[in-house]
Amino acid sequence: MNIAVIGTGYVGLVTGACFSELGVNVTCIDKDESKISSLRRGIMPIYEPGLEELVEKNVKQHRLSFTTDLKEAVERSLVVLIAVGTPSDEQGNADLTFVKEVAASIGSSLNEYKVVVTKSTVPMGTGKMIRSIIEEHRPGRTEFSVASNPEFLREGSAVEDFMRPNRVVIGTEDSQAAAILRDLYRPLYLIETPFVITDVVTAEMIKYASNAFLATKISFINEIARLCDALGADVHDVARGMGLDNRIGRKFLHPGPGFGGSCFPKDTLAVLAIAQSAGCEMKVVKAVVEVNEGQAPLMLGKIRGVLKEPKGKVAAVLGLSFKPNTDDIRESPALKIIDGLQREGVKVRAYDPISMDNARQVLHGVEFCNDEYSTVEGADVLVLVTEWNQFRALDMKRIRGLMRVPAVVDLRNIYDPEEMRRLGFTYRCVGRRSVESS
Ligand code: NAD
Repeated sequence: MNIAVIGTGYVGLVTGACFSELGVNVTCIDKDESKISSLRRGIMPIYEPGLEELVEKNVKQHRLSFTTDLKEAVERSLVVLIAVGTPSDEQGNADLTFVKEVAASIGSSLNEYKVVVTKSTVPMGTGKMIRSIIEEHRPGRTEFSVASNPEFLREGSAVEDFMRPNRVVIGTEDSQAAAILRDLYRPLYLIETPFVITDVVTAEMIKYASNAFLATKISFINEIARLCDALGADVHDVARGMGLDNRIGRKFLHPGPGFGGSCFPKDTLAVLAIAQSAGCEMKVVKAVVEVNEGQAPLMLGKIRGVLKEPKGKVAAVLGLSFKPNTDDIRESPALKIIDGLQREGVKVRAYDPISMDNARQVLHGVEFCNDEYSTVEGADVLVLVTEWNQFRALDMKRIRGLMRVPAVVDLRNIYDPEEMRRLGFTYRCVGRRSVESS
């Protein structure tokens, strides 16, 4: 089968590479010429574990190629996947400019029957809109089907998630399209991946409901952590005690600086905007967003509490990506925290294993360092923002010797408060007893 994937970002590139690995002929399309020409030279536009090897192998075996020529790629494909960005607009709505642009181009390239599939996260009703845009632009009355196939991969483990998904959701009103998509996903069908086959609007809703729910778990545990801080309870034990109940589950019960990344913040806002135009009030999701917006200021309060007089002090920030194993800094809590520190006159030194090139484009006045240890030199506080594995077992004795003041604000609760006290640190964390240096 020949397929086209339009939009070669985190989702499009992973989807294209993984389908080609499963034996499908894939053309990845992007309007960003420099991205496509880099990919043709074997240079990855993003960091994602295992992706580079997959791309290299499948390009060599002629199952994967890259182009900016949408028309030609669509013409020779039976399935056309849309994986362009759907960022938030100023009111929090999903901005569908790119989706509309692509639907029009698909329409004018429609030479024979195709299944047009939305992988981008789009508001309920977008499938219908795509259908009418294609109808408006197609030459003659060429037949086509529209389907929704929302993507659930997580950055940082995207290849693994794509190859071993918890489920595949396919929304279409058309049995021919459902059969073609089932065929496309046959290798996953064979390993008994559950499939949810439904209509388009329900599939679109499943994606938003899933992300809103996961975001709810995070805001929920962050709120519980606030209460633990106030009452002296230990949120780790609370989360474990809760999570061992199978009805609750242990995942996504990690307190921290709030959720970030390219999905949860924009998707929760989109749910609220969609609900508002449908005349529905979503009280839970609203609270989830509010709690999340309060997390960065709360974390800044913890740092301020350690620095006392922030102006002129030096903060060493470890971790800039919104989570480990990705170079994605979109909506990363680290950016908010750095901005807050700089506003209070704190000098920021920072290090991240992978995302510093991206961070340099948006952060100004930050001193980027070469590793963890050079970052903390002369610092008044070490702020751990992203829990990269290499930050989990730092040589804390060495760090204490390098810092001007031995103080750690650990926003991911990586370290043990008692151990930190024993090592002579003032240590603040999230929802667990903080300790003063002795
Ligand atoms: P991205 O910004 O990394 O990539 C989008 C790509 O689309 C860019 O390379 C852009 O140049 C390209 N593009 C835009 N308009 C185009 C056009 N007219 N023609 C060709 N290419 C065009 O975005 P992403 O993170 O991959 O997200 C894509 C969609 O998938 C979003 O709706 C997002 O919500 C959803 N999603 C993302 C993730 C994730 O973890 N990143 C997970 C699940 C779902």
